[in-house]
Amino acid sequence: MAKAHRSSLRFEVAIMSRLMVGGVDFGQPLIRPMCSAGRGNAMAEKVAIIGAGLAGAVCARALADAGRRVCVFEKSGGTGGRLSTRRSASGEFDHGAQYLTARGAAMGALLARLADAGAIASWTPDGKDRPGDWHVGLPGMSGAVKPLLAGLDVRLRTPVETLRLAADAGVEVVTGDGARHGFDRVIVTAPSPQAHALTGALDARFDALGGIVYAPCWAAMVAFDRPLPDLPDLWRGADDAPLALIARNGSKPGRTGETFVIHAGGAWSARNLERPAGPVLEEMLAALSAHAKGVPAPVHAAAHRWRHARVDAPLGTPFIESACGRIAVCGDGMLGGRAEAAVDSADALVAHIVAGGGQAVPARP
Ligand SMILES: Cc1cc2nc3c(=O)[nH]c(=O)nc-3n(C[C@H](O)[C@H](O)[C@H](O)COP(=O)(O)OP(=O)(O)OC[C@H]3O[C@@H](n4cnc5c(N)ncnc54)[C@H](O)[C@@H]3O)c2cc1C
Repeated sequence: MAKAHRSSLRFEVAIMSRLMVGGVDFGQPLIRPMCSAGRGNAMAEKVAIIGAGLAGAVCARALADAGRRVCVFEKSGGTGGRLSTRRSASGEFDHGAQYLTARGAAMGALLARLADAGAIASWTPDGKDRPGDWHVGLPGMSGAVKPLLAGLDVRLRTPVETLRLAADAGVEVVTGDGARHGFDRVIVTAPSPQAHALTGALDARFDALGGIVYAPCWAAMVAFDRPLPDLPDLWRGADDAPLALIARNGSKPGRTGETFVIHAGGAWSARNLERPAGPVLEEMLAALSAHAKGVPAPVHAAAHRWRHARVDAPLGTPFIESACGRIAVCGDGMLGGRAEAAVDSADALVAHIVAGGGQAVPARP
């Protein structure tokens, strides 16, 4: 069943600097007003956003704040996309992205506002090996998108299966339950193979999505019933190994339990992608036992396969828009392998739309 989430939390995403993404100037400075969701402007443009990951959440928040009527369709049962948290009786696991960092203005502004909203906190693990401030979502990584989506119409467990250009200059969105929804504009934030499946037949411009390359990642979520002091909070290994990253999830703020997330390397994950989860998990656990002394049998162990984990070869342009201006694709695949790329891509698209880019849309009831 589709589920709508509404709350009254107000949240501001303001980016006051002139937007420069990938060396391209995207127009006017954006000063976005406080959340205007729910003010019920029936004449406002109706925008469907496919995907409630970081790119979708940034688009949704900014467009709602700019007066659009926004509806977010998410195929899974939760928000956050690859900013993902799995819960178990033994504790929680951030089995996708481990932490967020900002190099540019848009991500810096977003992280500052998420921190103000109490949705992220700093994480300085024992073993921190890269510069900059590291931030994690609260209470898990998926918590980082919650303030962005608060008060908006978010439909969980609602996959979008088909997009059609409608005769009335809108776009018809067909969801998994067969329902048809009319919108003025659609933004697709799914990883590029899924985005292309929705858009490829509508405009040849979207064929460029085929050039984006993702590395897969096998992730293991492991909990123990006693402390393992020989394991650091963070450790990185080789890309062609079953043990490319160990993160002590319990060392992140707000987490509980002796919980670890293990990521296999991209090359190793690619070679083992189609194997069943059971043997993959066994191999990753054996590698963990070989890595540290005295690792006991876990009280919880599960594996998750990310087919599209980190972007290895991005498109290099912040978004693709159809010639008619009614459909656009954004997300990390456009610009790079970090969550910040998803934010920059979404931000560039929003700036383009708010500046009047794309079609001159009719208002629909
Ligand atoms: C294992 C792993 C480790 C990572 N580590 C880091 C890290 O430490 N730091 C960092 O910065 N980044 C990291 N990343 C990358 C980061 O997670 C991504 O760059 C970022 O989350 C991408 O956001 P997005 O919104 O573009 O895409 P996603 O998060 O993939 O969001 C897309 C959403 O669209 C939904 N969707 C897809 N198809 C449909 C459909 N047809 N209908 C409805 N919904 C649909 C999906 O369910 C998903 O929720 C990591 C990723 C992984 C997987």
